[in-house]
Amino acid sequence: MELDVRTLMVVFTVNVFAVALALPAIMGRGLGAAARQAVLSVLLQALGWFCLVLSTFWRNGWQDQASSVLAMAGMSASLVALWQSIGLWSAHTPARWPMWTLTGLMTLGYGIGFAHYPWRVGLANGVLGLQMLMVVVAVCRHSPQTGWRWRALIGLCMGAMAVVTFWRGVLGAFHTAAYPYLTAPHPVNMVAALVSNLSLVLTTVALLMAYREEAERALQAQAITDDLTGLLNRRAWTERADVLLADARRHGHPLVAVMIDIDHFKRINDERGHAQGDQALRLLARLLREELRSGDLAGRYGGEEFCVLLPHTREGQALSLDQRLRHCLRLQSAQELDFLLEYSAGLAALGQHDHTLDDLLRRADEALYEAKRAGRGQVVLAPRDKLPSAAKRMAAPATESVAP
Ligand code: GH3
Ligand code: MG
Ligand code: MG
Repeated sequence: MELDVRTLMVVFTVNVFAVALALPAIMGRGLGAAARQAVLSVLLQALGWFCLVLSTFWRNGWQDQASSVLAMAGMSASLVALWQSIGLWSAHTPARWPMWTLTGLMTLGYGIGFAHYPWRVGLANGVLGLQMLMVVVAVCRHSPQTGWRWRALIGLCMGAMAVVTFWRGVLGAFHTAAYPYLTAPHPVNMVAALVSNLSLVLTTVALLMAYREEAERALQAQAITDDLTGLLNRRAWTERADVLLADARRHGHPLVAVMIDIDHFKRINDERGHAQGDQALRLLARLLREELRSGDLAGRYGGEEFCVLLPHTREGQALSLDQRLRHCLRLQSAQELDFLLEYSAGLAALGQHDHTLDDLLRRADEALYEAKRAGRGQVVLAPRDKLPSAAKRMAAPATESVAP
């Protein structure tokens, strides 16, 4: 079968341009950083191939040199962008400078030594092959949050491309007679055409899989997150709290539930507007995130109500957390909101009669009610396994600061 190498290159270039236009059109607006790098990668590849095809129409001369240099720069930069997108998708973002340095040095060396065919073919293909292998390394990194299928697909494609690219580099550098010019009818060019086409199709599929996976992850995160505060929403909080409670009961670990309700929040909305009210909710959520330990569970339970579950925690520690939070809220609200934001809290430690989360939360809620009834701005500790009426009040002095 007679195949003209330049015709194959032209067809391939048209295909890459088609993918470069189709990908952003399919993915739509508002792309994340990883998807943007993936689109950029295909676009750079298309431009690189365009310059390479152009160079075959100029036999020698500065036009040949300029378009060949641009072609190598484009292809190498395309691999860097692909490598970056994989890093971003799989949450590994190593330093970029080694990859960009390789691209820069290769382009420079290629341009300077352009007249020396074995040097430039050996250098360009050697560096491109190396960058392809770096993409393979990137997809092989452990990344529990991403699927292995699209990563394996890219790994296979880049691995095959690296083999062909090294092969071409070795031929150009050491067996120049067998491979004297880019479009020589050597088997390497036939294999390269086949592998490049397959790789384009499969890598495009893999990139779309990665993009879909990212969109799914974002949707899942949205489904469990409260938009305004960024904390878990009630459903997600309850699901996780159930697990923590079951774990604490099974192993006999201490656990405390805290219900928090902002005081006179309706008045804040009425007097200062809903935007300020929202700002206040965000502030309390932020302080909760800052003050809690990594295993603690905070969620927005309702309008201006928050729930916190503190595993491996006893009443005393929970009370000091409350004091810390109260202190920070006073300071920050005075600074950021221009008024004093306070809350009431009900605190219940897991007791032997708390069989379900509802049992525990009911006690915390009763303690919260007590705190409201007793004048707000304070925390009330629900008595363990006693009737709610025995709730013990823990008044928090309005100005006292409690060291963390
Ligand atoms: P108390 O001290 O007894 O808790 O009084 P309160 O005014 O805080 O309680 P109440 O339940 O009467 O009012 C809660 C208010 O919270 C009413 C509602 O409009 C407001 N709210 C609920 N969700 C949001 C929200 O997302 N943003 C804003 N700005 N306000 C909200
Ligand atoms: Mg309320
Ligand atoms: Mg309230």
